[in-house]
Amino acid sequence: MHELHLAEDILRKIMEKAEELDQKEITSAKIGLGASRFTHMEELLELFNDISGGIKLEIDVIPVKTACAKCQTEFNPKTMRLDCEKCGSTDIQMVSGNELIVKEVC
Ligand SMILES: [Zn+2]
Repeated sequence: MHELHLAEDILRKIMEKAEELDQKEITSAKIGLGASRFTHMEELLELFNDISGGIKLEIDVIPVKTACAKCQTEFNPKTMRLDCEKCGSTDIQMVSGNELIVKEVC
C-alpha cells in the first residue's frame, strides 16, 4: 500500500502546482523523486495512472545520499554504512533521496 500513498501524494503536489500556475487541465507532469520513497516504479506509475485519470508522469529519480553529520563526509549509498569511515561517528544522515519535487506541469 506504500506505493498508493505515494501516488496520492504526487497527485496532490501536482494539483497544487497546477493551481499555483492557474492551470485548469493537466496532461503531463515531471517530478523529481527520491529513490528512498518508492520500491516499485512500475507499480507506482500504474497506480498514478489509475488515480490521476491518465496524466502522463515523468519521473527523475534522485539517488539516495548519506553523509556524516559530524565531518560531512559523503558515502556511497551502496555500502549503507552505519558509521563514518573517517571519524567513526554513528550520526549518519540522509542528505538526499527523500525528495518529492514537482518540476513541470503541462
Ligand atoms: Zn565523520
